[in-house]
Amino acid sequence: MNYIIFDLEWNNAYSYAKKGFMNEIIEIGAVKLNNKLETVDTFKQLIMPKLTKKLSGRCKNLTNITNEELKENGIPFSQAIKEFARWSKGENNLFMTWSNSDLYVLTSNYQAFLGNLNIDFITKYCDAQKYCMSFIERDNKNQISLSDCAQEFGIDIDVEKLHRALTDCYLTAECFKKVYDEGKLSGFVNDCDNRFFEKLIYKPYLITKPVTDVFNVYEQELICPVCKGALHRVDEFDCVNKSFRCPTKCKKCRKTFWTTVRAKKTYDKVEVFQRSIEMNRKKAKRIKKD
Ligand SMILES: [Zn+2]
Repeated sequence: MNYIIFDLEWNNAYSYAKKGFMNEIIEIGAVKLNNKLETVDTFKQLIMPKLTKKLSGRCKNLTNITNEELKENGIPFSQAIKEFARWSKGENNLFMTWSNSDLYVLTSNYQAFLGNLNIDFITKYCDAQKYCMSFIERDNKNQISLSDCAQEFGIDIDVEKLHRALTDCYLTAECFKKVYDEGKLSGFVNDCDNRFFEKLIYKPYLITKPVTDVFNVYEQELICPVCKGALHRVDEFDCVNKSFRCPTKCKKCRKTFWTTVRAKKTYDKVEVFQRSIEMNRKKAKRIKKD
């Protein structure tokens, strides 16, 4: 197995096609480790952005990439991807990045600039951050930064001496080597087919129509929060704040509730949440009369 650890630099720019801001990749950096975890090759390529010729101040500060450099050495995204795919070519490659945000940005750039998600050179992926974090015991469940992780693992390398584009790749590689465990690693490896990438960039949303192809609010079992028995609807559902609300009654408890149902469409399912709060007496009385 070879390990391809890559890192992207991007610039946040407005896309007229997407009618919103997106992160446009301006550099790919990668290091290749062989099965003995030795660094055998490196890759770096600047990419000429399409959305804007000017880098944002934040991007310039973060990456130290200048507009002049991009002009001189940047190539189109499609070409850079071809080069990267050719460089990383191999039967048994595991691609890794520090947190999956690089993979997310790569996927959304494919979609925006190539119009597809055929990232077929990446067949296996592991989030190095997730993997490394599994070796660190701490109460804080927040994601750990790469430099904090390196410190935690007692890694001391002079980042000043490393090539800018590859600094994070080298650091990630060092962290990975420190905690390399073949058996444990297999639990963090994802097979990357089209669905994997589709799911990655899918944006979940709250359903606001009571009946759709994938959801029907009237078919939801409404449950009494007190006795866990069935609640009966006393009126129509109203859509309030992207959720559905209606007055309900529990015959057993003789209580009246406001029941709220919220439906979230994710890539492959609909997650339904419900909550019932007892109504105040005045309001409940009015409902009874009706
Ligand atoms: Zn009840």
